Amino acid sequence: MIQIEHLSKKFGSLQVLRDVTITIRKGEVISIIGPSGTGKSTFLRCINMLDRPTGGSIVINGIDMLDPKTDVPSIRQKMNMVFQSFNLFSHLSVLDNLTIGPIRLLRRSREEAERRSHELLKLVGLAEKADNFPDELSGGQKQRVAIARCLAMEPDIILFDEPTSALDPTMVSEVLGVIRRLARNGMTMLIVTHEMDFARDVSSRVLYMDEGVIYEEGPPDQIFRDPKKERTRTFINRVRSFNYRITSSNYDLYAMNAEIELFCEKQIFALKTRRDLLLLVEEVLQICSLTLQLLVLDLTITYSEKNGEINLVVVYGGENVNLLETAAVPDELGVTIIRNLIRSIDFRHEDGRNRLALTLK
Ligand code: ADP
Ligand code: MG
Repeated sequence: MIQIEHLSKKFGSLQVLRDVTITIRKGEVISIIGPSGTGKSTFLRCINMLDRPTGGSIVINGIDMLDPKTDVPSIRQKMNMVFQSFNLFSHLSVLDNLTIGPIRLLRRSREEAERRSHELLKLVGLAEKADNFPDELSGGQKQRVAIARCLAMEPDIILFDEPTSALDPTMVSEVLGVIRRLARNGMTMLIVTHEMDFARDVSSRVLYMDEGVIYEEGPPDQIFRDPKKERTRTFINRVRSFNYRITSSNYDLYAMNAEIELFCEKQIFALKTRRDLLLLVEEVLQICSLTLQLLVLDLTITYSEKNGEINLVVVYGGENVNLLETAAVPDELGVTIIRNLIRSIDFRHEDGRNRLALTLK
């Protein structure tokens, strides 16, 4: 449906988009995530030519958008955009906000436009508000009207630019609910959003944008559960972490514990969490010192703000040895204590290193 190749966009000397290439198929729901200022809005605006790209190509249903002969306004009608700030006409009633486009641009009769608009208001849960004015609605209601108005133009694709970020938290879900419903009905959509859980369950594909490119893309499960690249991982988890490197068995246990305590304090962990974490570290190090020939390891504690998960990651060299599963572990009690403290274990052996990640209960 849309083929974008090597798209670039500069504002003066500021290179916002460097080289964006992507194909969007009919019926896809694509979420675009990424830090602010990385060009997500610019990307959407380039797609419907509100901003003119500096380079590359955009082909929509076989039509080259950058060809001067292309009738951009007529294609843009098929590609409506929903903004963060609603952009409703405040001097028109809700119904007139919906009918004005179809009557003026699609040459629909008023009667037909109104009939269709009532249907759409019903779809977004606002059948009763047809005669109200935008100022009489809450933010969530306004945004639902904006979505209905967008649908009234019978778009082939809808571009959403952070549709919920101007809303009170209490109103976010009513708007997301409407978008979910459109997704179920097969509408093709591109959604820039900061709502990670929503992006995860509504989209067929997730694009992580950073540094002016699509830095990583994939199905939501992969992007959210197992991103391949470090920047994506950092963004997704927005983890805070603590690192400690142990280089010999003479490491300073007290200094390390004091640093962990300080980290816990900064994260405002509950007392029980702190105790569990320290016990976990102690037991894991005990097993390490009994099992590893060289006590050289990197210990990382990560805390995800998003899901509250606390992980202890231990990376050590040598052959493929999962310290918690190998029969060689001489400290059965330690293993039992560890297993009681954790919810899950992830062990990998990569590039000659072992990585044991334990998630605290
Ligand atoms: P995002 O939506 O990911 O937060 P934007 O696309 O809004 O990012 O902006 C990307 C960068 O481009 C920012 O540094 C922003 O200041 C700049 N920018 C956006 N629009 C313009 C413009 N019309 N003129 C100049 N700079 C712009
Ligand atoms: Mg933006």
